[in-house]
Amino acid sequence: MSTNTAKSATYHNFIDGSWVPSVSGALFENRNPADTEDLIGVFQRSTAEDVARAVGAARSAYERWRLVPAPKRAELLFRAAQLLADRKESLARDMTREMGKVLDETRGDVQEAIDMTFFMAGEGRRQYGQTVPSELRDKFAMSIRQPVGVAAVITPWNFPMAIPSWKIIPALVCGNTVVFKPATLTPLSALNFVRILEEAGIPPGVVNLVTGGGADVVNALLVSDAVRVVSFTGSTDVGRTVSGQASPSFKKVHLEMGGKNVILIMDDANLELAVEGCLWGGFGTSGQRCTAASRVVVHEKVYKPFLEQFVARAKALRVGDGLDSQTQMGPSVSQGQLETVMKYVEIGRAEGARLECGGHALTSGALARGYFHEPTIFGDVAPSMRIAQEEIFGPVVSVIQCKSFDEAVEIGNGVQYGLSASIYTQDLNRAFAAMRDMYTGIFYVNAPTIGAEVHLPFGGTKATGNGHREAGTAALDVFSEWKSIYVDFSGRLQRAQIDTTDL
Ligand code: NAD
Repeated sequence: MSTNTAKSATYHNFIDGSWVPSVSGALFENRNPADTEDLIGVFQRSTAEDVARAVGAARSAYERWRLVPAPKRAELLFRAAQLLADRKESLARDMTREMGKVLDETRGDVQEAIDMTFFMAGEGRRQYGQTVPSELRDKFAMSIRQPVGVAAVITPWNFPMAIPSWKIIPALVCGNTVVFKPATLTPLSALNFVRILEEAGIPPGVVNLVTGGGADVVNALLVSDAVRVVSFTGSTDVGRTVSGQASPSFKKVHLEMGGKNVILIMDDANLELAVEGCLWGGFGTSGQRCTAASRVVVHEKVYKPFLEQFVARAKALRVGDGLDSQTQMGPSVSQGQLETVMKYVEIGRAEGARLECGGHALTSGALARGYFHEPTIFGDVAPSMRIAQEEIFGPVVSVIQCKSFDEAVEIGNGVQYGLSASIYTQDLNRAFAAMRDMYTGIFYVNAPTIGAEVHLPFGGTKATGNGHREAGTAALDVFSEWKSIYVDFSGRLQRAQIDTTDL
């Protein structure tokens, strides 16, 4: 897998069951965002030629893998799930070092992968089709799921093991083979995941890993005719590019993209609970969850007490290295992400929002070696401001005042995205009305916008998604195609249309 075991190990691509260097000979470094002096490793900067080899391996492995009975494919996945569970702690530690979120969160990330792998392995014995009565005598009518072919899996850095598992494991249980292109910022977690699949006995060529720059690797995957399904999670801009490049060859494309999620707080809300929800919804993973609550819409009757308590709690958050058990919020993932956060703080000030707390990068002592930023809250935010409309992906929360439930829902829906929303209220009628009227893929009552369970569908509406869902049995719909089958056992030519004489 690597040329040495030292701190600066060089890691390889995984193609056709072997760990191999890129034909380019080019490499890139990955560093700890909490301490940039800590080199995680050196990874392959792959080219179109590496992608062509990986796709070729996946294409030929597909002809064997699709014929392995699904319960047998699942047996390998059960083994992988157990290996993930056995190694949870070291996988979580690697992940925290690699992308900064605190250990409790990286343990949760690995747990998602464990849960998804066990859940999807169970689907090896289900993948139900339909059996329906035929229109004709002595004829059997049914539908079955078929694999699609080679799947390109393209993932972001914020859930470096959970998101790959949401895609790769359902792809495999359905009988597809995979070429996996992880985010450039989290290649080690991707590699750890693939290594576990290898150890579980997934045959050569069934899963291939190609690391490297987004445009170089992904473009080569998208123009390949052999790739039949693409599952992408990342920003809306890149998703749009992916969608455009995949369409000429009519690939099936699943997109999960950006968000601007919202918590609605009504005048009858349990404020203590709401503050707690906004704290973890807003600042968990340093605001870098796709489901992060970057907007809070608060009824005017409770706006002041809510804001006071929320600001007090945010100021008290302990920011630092996620490997330290005392730390509550880690760094931004990269210099670029930190700069985006700082840029939006300036935009918020210029737009006339009130900076209630935070607003600065943290650069004293050991923090100077990482990409740290204060938890930041803007009050008196107008719904049309850029900080209330655009995805920042950092520890910045915009608090907006509203006069009524209806206005809260209107503000909540008034963005281009539609991933997650939540309401804090004691009123059952309002809770159900908001559940119905918020146009998002995920909705919570008296809980923050974060925290999905693997057996329910996950995904968003509008500029967040393109109508597919991952997780739950919905994921099977991405990675399989329906085939309808008619078996005529009458032994004679039957008319295709039923008529009265044939009854
Ligand atoms: P990104 O769009 O920059 O990158 C996603 C993937 O695409 C990476 O593998 C990257 O290398 C690749 N890529 C980058 N530029 C490319 C290009 N020009 N052409 C082809 N591929 C390219 O996203 P990110 O910064 O890794 O992740 C953060 C984004 O992901 C946020 O917008 C967040 O909301 C979103 N996200 C969404 C969900 C969801 O389920 N909706 C979940 C997690 C993250």
